[in-house]
Amino acid sequence: MIAPVMPTYNRAPLSFESGCGAWLTTVDGRRFLDFGAGIAVNALGHAHPRLVAAIEAQARKVWHVSNLYEIPEQQRLAERLVDATFADTVFFTNSGTEAAELAIKIARKHGVAAGRERMIAFEGAFHGRSTGAVAAAGGTKLTEGLGPLMPGFTHLPFGDMAALEGAMGDDVVAVFIEPIQGEGGIRPLADGALAAIRALCDRYGALLVLDEVQCGMGRTGHLFAHQAEGVEPDILLAAKGIGGGFPLGAVLATEAAAAPMVAGTHGSTYGGNPLGCAVGLAVMDVVAEPAFLDAVRAKGGFMAQRLSALVDSHPEVFEGWRGRGLMLGLKLRPGHTPAALVAAARDVGLLVVPAGDNVVRLLPPLTVDEAEMAEACARLEAAAAALEATAAPSAPTQATKQATKQTTEQA
Ligand code: PLP
Repeated sequence: MIAPVMPTYNRAPLSFESGCGAWLTTVDGRRFLDFGAGIAVNALGHAHPRLVAAIEAQARKVWHVSNLYEIPEQQRLAERLVDATFADTVFFTNSGTEAAELAIKIARKHGVAAGRERMIAFEGAFHGRSTGAVAAAGGTKLTEGLGPLMPGFTHLPFGDMAALEGAMGDDVVAVFIEPIQGEGGIRPLADGALAAIRALCDRYGALLVLDEVQCGMGRTGHLFAHQAEGVEPDILLAAKGIGGGFPLGAVLATEAAAAPMVAGTHGSTYGGNPLGCAVGLAVMDVVAEPAFLDAVRAKGGFMAQRLSALVDSHPEVFEGWRGRGLMLGLKLRPGHTPAALVAAARDVGLLVVPAGDNVVRLLPPLTVDEAEMAEACARLEAAAAALEATAAPSAPTQATKQATKQTTEQA
């Protein structure tokens, strides 16, 4: 008999009752160090006092009114995002998927007006689970069994600039890309690639759409990852960290990109409701502070050192590490799986998240402290040792040791 909750998830056998900062406690009293943060969502950790205060205060006033009316909290959050970014205007959604869906709609509106149909996206991408978002990401894992997909997407190898140059043309209306692929396995674009993509979009008059649902909102030590590159998109998708755990997403756009989106062209019952935006404002108050972002970069530096040491001491388990700031991935050697490392980490009280490309993601709350990072790395040591004890893939040769070093240095 089918379970009351539709069985679309492979869940770990853990139920949490409470959380505080980077820690979660199960209903039976076990404590876990949370280096998944609800898949990069709990940017400020669990039960952050500023977020608790914001949601409590707003809950006593008004939760939801619909977009039939002005929403001052939404207005203020839009102004904060516009002030802090390239954007002139913002549409609020409840999730990253909905943000991706709107970006596709905006691109298609431009495309229809300009007689252009093609949208370029990249292998290994993830933009959500709606029919439009899976068509954008491509790949059989997401699209299998769904019948005819939304047409128009061309998929290229991630980061392959020669392929992009070859695929661009006057029929391309938009390029969709994550500056750092998350689900795809913490794959950052090479330095300078984003600027080259921007230049190609400019040359062909295409929109540059950055999906920063996972890498945005301070995770890399910049409010948005692209800001480190000095490159501006036309459209940006945000979600996850923007609500700190409250379901909130956003599409940020320049005035020109948003031109087709006049009254009646898009909408949402809940998107940008007072409760969500009150939390979003509290998240922005903390995350957008330069000192907070500096601290995230410093924490990223600390993790980089510890992960290099971890990889060096377990070369038969790890091929290397990669990432930016607190968006980090451990690449496993063939023969070891993300599922096995995630389970071994869970056994020693550490929560981490599997990803594509044989990678395990480390996405701690941005508020994590040095003692917690050191503790997480100690637990990863224990998990790696457990993997070594249970599996014995061939010992690394001098060549694989050299490859480990290179992967680490490239990150
Ligand atoms: N885009 C990216 C880059 C993501 O990582 C995700 C979720 O993991 C999404 C879009 C979809 O967001 P959501 O799950 O909030 O719909």
